Amino acid sequence: MEPSVTLNKTIRINIGGTTFKSYVKTLTTFPDSKLANLEKEKDSFDFDQNEYFFDRNPILFTYILDSFRKGAVHLPKDICGTTFKKELEFWEIPQHYVAPCCWEALYGSEDDIETVNLLIKSFQQNSNLALMSQEKMDVRTRLWLFLDEPKSSRYALVWSVFISFVILAATLVDSLSTVDSFQENFTEPQIKLLSKFADALDFDNATLEKLATIKPRTYLLYANAIFHVILTLELALSFIVCSNKRSFVCFTRLIACFGYMSYWISFTVYFNLKYLESIHALMVQLVFGYLSIFKIARLFYLTRGVPAFRLICLTFSSSKQELKILIFLLGIFVCVFGYVLFAAELLQNSNITNIFTAIYWALITLTTVGYGNYVPSTVAGHVIAGACAVCGVLVLALPVGIIVSKFYKYYDYHRYTVIHAQTREGPCLRMRKNTPSESNSLIEEIELVPTE
Ligand SMILES: [Zn+2]
Repeated sequence: MEPSVTLNKTIRINIGGTTFKSYVKTLTTFPDSKLANLEKEKDSFDFDQNEYFFDRNPILFTYILDSFRKGAVHLPKDICGTTFKKELEFWEIPQHYVAPCCWEALYGSEDDIETVNLLIKSFQQNSNLALMSQEKMDVRTRLWLFLDEPKSSRYALVWSVFISFVILAATLVDSLSTVDSFQENFTEPQIKLLSKFADALDFDNATLEKLATIKPRTYLLYANAIFHVILTLELALSFIVCSNKRSFVCFTRLIACFGYMSYWISFTVYFNLKYLESIHALMVQLVFGYLSIFKIARLFYLTRGVPAFRLICLTFSSSKQELKILIFLLGIFVCVFGYVLFAAELLQNSNITNIFTAIYWALITLTTVGYGNYVPSTVAGHVIAGACAVCGVLVLALPVGIIVSKFYKYYDYHRYTVIHAQTREGPCLRMRKNTPSESNSLIEEIELVPTE
């Protein structure tokens, strides 16, 4: 007996033990689907029962069959979108038949999978190294892990805490150097040199006075030098032992390296000023002393062990579109309000004297900062200022809201991936964790295990 498929007839389909009955006509709603072309499914036809049999979930099939009756696919709200997508694939129903009210359920789950993959990728880098057993590592890799991966061993953690302390101490000393009571006056010959320098550059007396009093006390200078010896050596050694030089050279390290070099040039010249005794030497010392401020970038070292910081970076890097919209919108509104305000204040004795001042005012007002150094003085100006402030809140809130919700999502999913990675640790690994001799094993420190 051949499976008879005629439009007016009913047809029995057994899905995982539950029998469904429908008109053949109904099943032609989606012409390319498996159900519309059942005559091709001869292998699934049960001649004894005179029905088709598919070993699928009958609950999901209720929704599939309903889609044929309604002409559009609606997803059950309590079923994962990915599961239902597989069901659609099995029944060969194209995704574009899914009704707009159910897009979130379908595409939201794809988005979630993308998020998890992104998180795993970005947190994986050092975990791969951590997966290697310590015996297999050469001295260089071990040294690299010691310097750059605080979670690799107890000693690495201590080293990381020590370096963090040195960075903080160096920053504190730098900050103290700017406080009056931690500064001393230059010596007579140094002041002479300074005034020559000020004359050559046409500085006024106030600038000269400022220059003459910014010398930190000697003990601060030496303390800072010791801290910088440690930090410079640490950076240099990390660079030498790092096998992947390209990934080592990042923005913050480059800036910090530039800051250290400036510091050492300024330091060397400063202690040889009495031999050099030239305006140029003093200029080099002052300029590089000024540039050494870039070593503050090393503070980012402290954020390495903080997943939230990496999540913030990840949020920004994946929110380029939103940031572009933000800058674009802000740019337009700043120009519009700047021009309108300038026009409104044109004939008044206002401190907004040109378009650029007006644009600056608009930027400060739109970003809800409002310094108040430039203020409109006309009634029209006040109305524009009010509108500008309200627009500022709205313009900022929209893209910022999207970025913030993305961050929350990353934060939550990072938590889930950490918990999930723990559940994947087999009994073998758990035993290793509990063995005292292996307590500093790298394996217990793995945060994420990539899914296949
Ligand atoms: Zn729906």
